[in-house]
Amino acid sequence: ARLKPAATTTSICGYCATGCQLKLHLDRDGNAINLSPQASYPVNLGMACPKGWQALDPLTADDRGTVPLLRDPATGQRKPVDWETALGVFVDGFRSIQDKHGRDAAAFLSTGQIPFEEMAFLGCLWKFGMGFLHGDANTRQCMATAVTAYKQSFGFDAPPATYADFEESDVIVLVGANLCIAHPILWQRVMRNRRNPKIIVIDPRSTETAQAANLHLPIRPKGDLPLYYALAHCILRDGRIDEASVARTEGYAEFAEFVKAFTPQSVSDVTGIAAETIEQLAATVSEPGKRVSWWWTMGVNQSHEGVRTAQAIINLCLITGNIGRPGTGPNSITGQCNAMGSRLFSNTTSMVGGHDFANQAHREKVARRLGIGEDRIPKDTSLEYDRILAAAEAGEIKGLWIVATNPFHSWIDSGRLAALRDKLEFLVVQDMYHSTESATEADLFLPAAGWGEKSGCFINSERRIGTIKPVRWPPGQTLSDFRIFRLIANAWGCADMFSEWTDTESAFRILRDLTEDQPCDITGITDYEHLDRMGGIQWPFPARTETGDADTEPAPERRLFEDENYYTDSGKAKILFSPPSALPEPPDTGYPFLMLTGRGTSSQWHTQSRTSKSDILRKLYPAGAYVEIHPEDAAEFGIEPNQAVNVSSRRGTMTASAYLAPTVQRGHIFIPMHYPEVNRLTHPSFDPHSRQPNYKACAVTIRPA
Ligand code: SF4
Repeated sequence: ARLKPAATTTSICGYCATGCQLKLHLDRDGNAINLSPQASYPVNLGMACPKGWQALDPLTADDRGTVPLLRDPATGQRKPVDWETALGVFVDGFRSIQDKHGRDAAAFLSTGQIPFEEMAFLGCLWKFGMGFLHGDANTRQCMATAVTAYKQSFGFDAPPATYADFEESDVIVLVGANLCIAHPILWQRVMRNRRNPKIIVIDPRSTETAQAANLHLPIRPKGDLPLYYALAHCILRDGRIDEASVARTEGYAEFAEFVKAFTPQSVSDVTGIAAETIEQLAATVSEPGKRVSWWWTMGVNQSHEGVRTAQAIINLCLITGNIGRPGTGPNSITGQCNAMGSRLFSNTTSMVGGHDFANQAHREKVARRLGIGEDRIPKDTSLEYDRILAAAEAGEIKGLWIVATNPFHSWIDSGRLAALRDKLEFLVVQDMYHSTESATEADLFLPAAGWGEKSGCFINSERRIGTIKPVRWPPGQTLSDFRIFRLIANAWGCADMFSEWTDTESAFRILRDLTEDQPCDITGITDYEHLDRMGGIQWPFPARTETGDADTEPAPERRLFEDENYYTDSGKAKILFSPPSALPEPPDTGYPFLMLTGRGTSSQWHTQSRTSKSDILRKLYPAGAYVEIHPEDAAEFGIEPNQAVNVSSRRGTMTASAYLAPTVQRGHIFIPMHYPEVNRLTHPSFDPHSRQPNYKACAVTIRPA
């Protein structure tokens, strides 16, 4: 009886981009006492994975930041200070850098984990209010490749899918995507498909999802781009294209010429897939009358040629007519709960609302709605994440403000972070926890409220906007990120510019208005209550349509490009391609193994900052690092099960427990990304278009420890 709820509310889960809605059960004071998945929400249909079920646990961890902490330069110790002191130090630190070195000498690194109202406030405050130029988000590590691929091909960052497409496909191709553990609720959507679909997994590892598929293609790492060109070769050679869909593209003739060289035989070695299998797959994904959907995650995005690989998938959908219809699409599944919000509103390399800094009309529009002078908006865009860090290494960027992310664990070749730390004059970390690898490096730590302690909106992988709510009081003097930004605006002296940003719903209205006439137009959304009433709303949802006012009750599931019009100037999709390139760091005699990284479990999230705080989630996953090794490789190197081994790359060494399993191919090893040591090893190579890091393949050696 003590736990009988006095009320309930709802909130989108704060981990992955599936965007499940949770039902929070509250006591009389409005504090959540437990939760359950929401049955009526069109995304999760009453389901949640272990992280969602345990979402309240991280709020009460012992290492929550409760007061600002300031490092004493004399002793190196961090000491509690009040907010007034912390804000003074913050302003003095960044103003001094700006005065001495200019607007390019500091940057923020933010996240896909906070509501987009907070992201937008941070980006607008930093650039328009405080007058700095550079800032990027950890979505660079996650979705930048998909963003760039869609922008170049379709004219806007526009993932076309709706999750119902999982249930309406005849053929589901999962590329570098381990849905069973990375997006378990989406795998359940696949399981609800009653069309007896063929499920094909393209992945170097025999993942949980590969083992559950009808067909697993154990591709050689980064062999996927030539594979997709070979599929296009077969489809064109056999005349299996969809003429109407091809007519809505540009670049087809050049593409047809380009793929002539990619015969199945010619790519068999580099892909590791037999020519006959490639022929069969080409026939399967181009079968007339069938609905074929392609879904990818980090196996494609985190690559040195991820953009062209994503576009090779897009091209296959365009030439076979698998776009804009139920059960089809080249569909990127986003990583973080609000990666799509970051893509549209973070004001980093794109201007808030999906606008371009270089576009005069866009600058005028944004300035008008924000009520600021257009001269406050820079004409040039920010450096990307890797270039911000390179500039810090070079001593050009002297101050960093890290918000709700943990790059000292998560960034590729993380040893470089430790080295550049000494070059920074001022490092501020704003986070829920004072104990993360990044927070412990900070000169100034600002304690922030987390999911469950504040309001705002997330946008999930199918472009659905949903709300989060406060269901617990944040501890001590902790404040929401939104409130911290307001205090900083005040302390910096630019609060007048943000007088309309009084709370997250006010910010939502500003951002909503900014989307007018953009592909992501959401001007038809009235307020948070409208979003809750509708079970979330997918963009676009404009206030005005050609036939009059928008329906106030949008259909629960909507996909893009049903009218075959794309967002390019010509209205046609672009077929883009480049020759495949070699692995940046192939194995050799000194480093004979290829190391793969990825998610290891459904119970942990990224750097485990939050999920490690849950007793239950910790029990579901080993605390110490492990490495998957093929049993025959282990025998050759004299490695026993559970033996401690040293895994070394040219950049560092880590120790892990050997887990012998044929889930990896011979010559490969796999280490989950959840352990901080793993990125001491990863190789700092990047996609040239998206600047997304290539986490998935680097050369290593293994020895018994
Ligand atoms: Fe759903 Fe993802 Fe949250 Fe799990 S982590 S409950 S799949 S949104």
